[in-house]
Amino acid sequence: MLGKLFGKKKAPQKSVDTANKTSQSADKKPRQRKPHGKKAAKPQAKAWSVEQFKVPEVEGKTRFHDLGLDERLMHGIADLGFEYCSPIQAGVLPQTLQGHDAIGKAQTGTGKTAAFLITIINDLLNNPITDDRYSGEPRALIIAPTRELVVQIGEDARHLTKHTDLKVATLIGGMDYQKQLSTLKNSLVDIVVASPGRLLDFQSRKDLFLDQVEFLVIDEADRMLDMGFIPQVRRIVRSTPQKENRQTLLFSATFTPEVMSLTEQWTFEPFQLEIEPDHVATDTVDQKVYIVSTSEKYKLLRNIIKQPDAKSVIVFANRRDQTRKLFERLQKAGVRCGMLSGEVAQNKRSSTLKSFKEGKLQVLVATDVAGRGIHVDGITHVVNYTLPEDPEDYVHRIGRTGRAGALGTSISFACEDDAFLLGPLEEMLGAKLSCTQPPEELLT
Ligand code: AMP
Repeated sequence: MLGKLFGKKKAPQKSVDTANKTSQSADKKPRQRKPHGKKAAKPQAKAWSVEQFKVPEVEGKTRFHDLGLDERLMHGIADLGFEYCSPIQAGVLPQTLQGHDAIGKAQTGTGKTAAFLITIINDLLNNPITDDRYSGEPRALIIAPTRELVVQIGEDARHLTKHTDLKVATLIGGMDYQKQLSTLKNSLVDIVVASPGRLLDFQSRKDLFLDQVEFLVIDEADRMLDMGFIPQVRRIVRSTPQKENRQTLLFSATFTPEVMSLTEQWTFEPFQLEIEPDHVATDTVDQKVYIVSTSEKYKLLRNIIKQPDAKSVIVFANRRDQTRKLFERLQKAGVRCGMLSGEVAQNKRSSTLKSFKEGKLQVLVATDVAGRGIHVDGITHVVNYTLPEDPEDYVHRIGRTGRAGALGTSISFACEDDAFLLGPLEEMLGAKLSCTQPPEELLT
């Protein structure tokens, strides 16, 4: 394993203690290493063969089939119904599958999660560890800023590893520590997906060690910056092997100078790829702006929800209190709805998201932080009950619909209090938005 790990980068710059690779942070308390022995390889289901999954060649498209991926991983990809790579996957996978670091400018909705997961899973499968392993020592670490995003990435990872013996753990605050701990202690976890705070909790209690990490993914780096997580992320990165001795993938919706400075510190000769936001959302989302007075907004929303094609709707509001009031009002009116915001307990948020995914809830009312990274296919409408103050949030919001090639509708309400935000929004989009009065029937 060590030969593989350190032989991977073309020019390792630093000498490495191969007996027990040490991180840059010193562990003061002796580590209680609990050997778990080796993993038995999970046999590939007999009935499935990659040949069954062969899709026709299409000019300009990359088939997963052409990437030489492990068959067990291909089986997971086929189960998810992915046939051709999304642009970010087609751009980044040929590089990252060779072991190169990469930085990707990409929003959610581009397929970036599968891009980094496929890289990790394929490599872990190609390079199984034959020596004894120890609990609490993952081979891959993925950090993401919000709990919802962590859960989502964890779910995607479980789907993609379904036909393998790889084990995934998600570590998030607000959920039962002991339960997450027992997963780490009682099995050999290969991939850890975590939010920064909870990850540091596990590390400081000596329940998790990052010095065997071969892959480090930092997702939504710009959001980490916005949310003030960078000092924590720095500590985490410092306790993984040095950058020449791990593969690092970093994604961010924007490449600000601050993000670029972090990528310089954390990645080694990275391959760089930019997927522009207009490829994400605007192609598949019909964007409408309704000019409406504050007092008419609720009525308008109710009528939009009543339309037969509004099967699965996310309503965004800027503040938690607005979100709560709206949720309570809709619930009272008998709408099957749920709420996602920072004031809702984590386990409640997870069950709400699950019910929404399963179609038990028609409407989800959310704030930006809670709503970001929700990957639910089939959302028909996104309603911006209040316009986002940050134009970037607009792109994130409307990116919840029009996913995976489906068509979606976004309806933004612009009222006397926030219509001034439309100018900067159009500037960022580089296009005029169609602003109209709502049709009469939606106001009755
Ligand atoms: P992400 O950008 O990671 O949020 O992914 C956006 C959505 O696209 C998710 O629902 C994925 O399941 C889906 N997806 C990712 N890659 C593909 C692909 N190659 N083909 C079809 N759907 C995909």
